Amino acid sequence: MKPFPRAEISSSALKHNLARLRQLAPDSRVMAVVKANGYGHGLLNVAQCVADADGFGLARLEEALELRAGKVKAKLLLLEGFFRQEDLPLLIEHDIETVVHHESQLQMLESCTLSRPVTVWLKLDSGMHRLGVTPERFHELYQRLLACPNVAKPIHLMTHFACSDEPDNDFTARQIKVFNDLTRDLPGERTLANSAGALYWPESQGDWIRTGIALYGVSPVCGDLGSNHGLIPAMELVSQLIAVRDHSAGEPVGYGAAWTAPKDTKLGVVAIGYGDGYPRNAPEGTPVLINGRRVPIVGRVSMDMLTVDLGLDATDKVGDSALLWGRDLPVEEVAQHIGTIAYELVTKLTPRVAVCLA
Ligand code: PLP
Repeated sequence: MKPFPRAEISSSALKHNLARLRQLAPDSRVMAVVKANGYGHGLLNVAQCVADADGFGLARLEEALELRAGKVKAKLLLLEGFFRQEDLPLLIEHDIETVVHHESQLQMLESCTLSRPVTVWLKLDSGMHRLGVTPERFHELYQRLLACPNVAKPIHLMTHFACSDEPDNDFTARQIKVFNDLTRDLPGERTLANSAGALYWPESQGDWIRTGIALYGVSPVCGDLGSNHGLIPAMELVSQLIAVRDHSAGEPVGYGAAWTAPKDTKLGVVAIGYGDGYPRNAPEGTPVLINGRRVPIVGRVSMDMLTVDLGLDATDKVGDSALLWGRDLPVEEVAQHIGTIAYELVTKLTPRVAVCLA
């Protein structure tokens, strides 16, 4: 018996998406971004499915160590440069590369003795103003890295976009220019593009694209769908009906009696709730797919379940499956209803949701 709720992860969709990204960025290598448990798809699952990715992007050292423990041999990069000085020997031992975004990290590298140099990617703040060295100090810090014996040469170069998911916003073009102007004559590999960069700003593709959400078949852009780019959603979030009830006009349902039926109907109770990571703030009307039919959520999402209006003539039964998002109900669309982004929905599933690779 299959567990429910469950996130079914399609290995063929992941492989397809990697191949599609290679088509879309033919001159770049693909760094598959698998931080945050592979965006909820399972860190090792994803890395093993797309083992031929050119590298993997992570946020935490622990994530990189988990991949090495799982025999993943590819290049690993700590995208946000989260490391402490005492972590440096681990980076070397496990051949993990890191971003350097702040002078304090340079000081750590300058004030220790390592058995081998670490490969670093110097992050330029080209406009996002979150992490990265400023354009004014970029060359000074670059020279200090060059002079540091604990740093492998060449030094690689990266930046991150603030608004690449807004295809009409020329902020990205300005960031690309800042990065190119400062790094044009330097050796080393260069990476600018996240998924939105790779899909919408081909001039940013560089030596490496660092794609997370697109690898999972989802578009980073509001109002867009991964399928518009030939991508296939890799996750199907599935549960099932645990009750079907006749419900009279004028009667409420759920906590706070927040919704009242305008007419006689049948309600379905689906076994998934905010304890599984399905957002409690999903408003009335957020779609769920039951037996291929879109039906609206009614009433409040509770910890373990939510209710949908099946309609008076429904023939759905207890045990019928319910799709919360997947190929036939894009997570981008569900996210829009809820007022969030697909990234948040897929990464916020809790450990109660079984992640099953198919
Ligand atoms: N690069 C960096 C530095 C990131 O922080 C992220 C994700 O947040 C990515 C790439 C991947 O972004 P996306 O999932 O939009 O492709």
